Order: sequence, then structure tokens, then C-alpha cells
Amino acid sequence: MLSFVFDTLTSDGRPVAVCVMCRSRDREIKETLKKLKNIEFGSYSSGYTVDYRLSSMLRELLEPFGGDIEVFGATVKAGKADCPTGGIIGRIGEGSESAAEGLFSSGGMTFYTAPGRFAFAIDGGIPGELTDKALEEGSAETIYSALTACGRDFVFIADGSGGGKGAAAVRGEIVMLSETEAKSGERTEFFGLKRIGIMGGTFDPVHYGHLIAAETVRDELSLDKVIFMPTGHTTYKKGRPSEGRHRYTMTALAAADNPAFLVSSMELAGKGYSYTADTVRKIRERCGRDTEIFFITGSDVVEYMSGWKDFSALTKMCSFAAVNRGGSHGGAALDRLSAAGADIKKIDIPDLEISSSMIRERIRNRKTVKYLLPESVEGYIRLHGLYTGGKAESALDTVLDKLI
Ligand code: ATP
Ligand code: MG
Repeated sequence: MLSFVFDTLTSDGRPVAVCVMCRSRDREIKETLKKLKNIEFGSYSSGYTVDYRLSSMLRELLEPFGGDIEVFGATVKAGKADCPTGGIIGRIGEGSESAAEGLFSSGGMTFYTAPGRFAFAIDGGIPGELTDKALEEGSAETIYSALTACGRDFVFIADGSGGGKGAAAVRGEIVMLSETEAKSGERTEFFGLKRIGIMGGTFDPVHYGHLIAAETVRDELSLDKVIFMPTGHTTYKKGRPSEGRHRYTMTALAAADNPAFLVSSMELAGKGYSYTADTVRKIRERCGRDTEIFFITGSDVVEYMSGWKDFSALTKMCSFAAVNRGGSHGGAALDRLSAAGADIKKIDIPDLEISSSMIRERIRNRKTVKYLLPESVEGYIRLHGLYTGGKAESALDTVLDKLI
């Protein structure tokens, strides 16, 4: 398998970069890609417009090569665009994605994209020639030769400027440029939102029970956003959960197709134990005074919530949305919390007998988990060998670790 980055300019001097992997006919493909030279993208009003146009152009150009070729990333730097573009990413035949911010998995790989930056990762490492120095000098050839030299297995992250600045991983050691420092998937600004839901959980892994609970509450209470908050260390959970970054990434993958869902690493970033009261306080500080916050919880959590640190302070900072789990909203425990002054709304959701523990157990026992959780999350679990008793850290893990 040969890999290369094709780099050219649009008619008004915008750089275009396309990263291609092909089994054969690489010269022919290179020649074909030259047709991208001096193309006119029209108005640069939005990065996404440019992305989509490049995507369809590529699909048309590369159609004749069918399965011989895979395109892993393509990008245009649109200088005067209202918003910067991160290009497109994904396999051309399967339909590629614009660089809306997000994480997604396809064909056993995990991609991170963002306006102004793009990244892709394949399990493996990249040889030593790639240094940030070489990338700074803007040499597409440097990237090309390094990718070619290492064959299929490489991890590469670039900023979307057509072979200009970028970053690369060297056998698990990432060479960082500033662009990759921004956290993905997370927007820490909640200002302007009037009604926020917070869905706390271990999310080890996230599943359709969580998603249906969050979406139903969002709808019933007309929430602007639901923030998924994977927990850091907690006092109340037995056993050690998977690493925070895995739980964060899986939750981000699951939340990706719902514009009302956000994922926060606020609790994961802290070193010590995380307490809901502290988290809600921090979110309150970032919101307007009149913002209403609803903490979403299933009936099993309702049972022990009154024992949480600063619970009575928490009841003054937010309301609660209690969803049914196992047929109950929390029964007597719920009534006790209400009597103690908590504002609790009972929300009915379709009862789903799904739990993360059950999914972990099924994976350990090699049973199917299809239809219990999003496919992208299942793909991520398989890619990282989660819940099976372990697989060595891969370079991809290291890259994602730094990236998110
Ligand atoms: P585990 O089995 O590891 O405890 P879990 O499935 O209970 O995992 P958590 O991350 O512990 O998931 O739960 C986070 C929140 O989501 C809790 O408030 C929990 O009650 C709620 N929740 C989880 N699964 C469901 C479900 N199937 N229906 C309704 N609520 C759920
Ligand atoms: Mg649980």
C-alpha cells in the first residue's frame, strides 16, 4: 500500500492537500489529482461550503479507481473564509465528512476533525524523519516520503494548511504544534444557554440507555443542551473504571450526531475525586444568572444521592430530572429527596434494560452488543481492545491522549 499527500493550489492561490492511500496505480492517481490544480471554489463564505465542494470533486475524480484507493483527508486553506476550514476526511467511496468539529470512527480508525485543523489516525507509528521542523518548512514531499516509507501504519496529524504547519506522531511520541492543543468536542462556554441538562455518569461505556434518557429529558424539559459529564474518581463506584480518555472519547462519539449534546472533560481533568456539587458550581459560574440547570439521573442513583458531598448546597444550585430505570423513578428515596427540598421532575422514558456493566460482561464473554450502544462506540471498544482483558497501548492511544 502506497500513501502520499498531494498538494496543490486553487486558481486564486489557496493550498489544497489530499492524502491518498492506494494499492496500485499510484502514478495514475497522482496524475488525476493534478486536475485539482487551479480549481475555482467560488465564494469562501464558509469553510463547510469549500469542504463539501472539495469532497464531491474528489469523489468524481477518483471514481474510476474504485476500491484501489482510499482518501484519508483532504483540506483547503481558505484564507478569507468567515470560518476556517479543516477540509474533508474519510473514505471517498463511503462518503466523506466535512470538518465539523468532532470525533468519529470508520473502518477501524478514529478520526478527529475541526475547522482549521484536521487529523486522522491509524493504529501504528511513523518513522523518525518527520519532525515538526520539516513540517514547519511546509514540505508536502516530506510527509509523502515518510508516509510511503512506513507503508500503511502511521499516525499523522496536520493543521489543514496543505502541508504547511502540522504535527506528527513518532512512534507514539507526538510532535505537537499549537493547533492540536485545543480540546475536541468540548465547548466550555455555556453562556447564553437558558436551560441546561447535565448527565453525569461513568459511561464505561456509554449506551442507548444513557442517550435515550438524555434525549427524552431534553425534549420534555425543552433544554438547550445536555452536557455529558464523564466522572473522574468517585467514592461510590466499586472497581476501577476504564481510563477517562477512553470514556470521554466514547461519549463524544455517541454524542456526535446530536447537536444538543455536549461532552465535558471537566471532571476528568481534575486529579482528585470529583463531586457533583463542585461540578455544578463550576458550570453555574460560566452561565448567566437566570440559567436553569437540571441534573439528570436514573433511579439507581437517586437511592444514594442524599449521601453526596454538599447535597443540600447542590439542591439550591440545580433541579433534578429523575428518569425511570428498571420500572421505577426512585420510589421512597425520591420522595425523601423532595421532602428535603430538592426540586425533582419525574420524566418517563422508554424503559431499557441496558447497563454498562452488562455490556462489559457481554464483551468479555464474546457476546454481541449490537443495538445496545452506537456502532461508533462499539468500533472504538474493539479498536482499543477494551473490556476484553487488555491490549498493549498503541501509538493511536498516545496520539488521542494528547489530542483530546
Ligand atoms: P454501570 O453498570 O457501570 O453502573 P450504568 O449503565 O449504570 O453503568 P452509569 O454511567 O453508571 O451507567 O450511569 C449514568 C447515569 O445514567 C445514571 O444516572 C444512571 O441511572 C443512568 N442510566 C444508565 N443506564 C440507564 C438506563 N438503561 N435507563 C435509564 N437511566 C440509565
Ligand atoms: Mg451505574
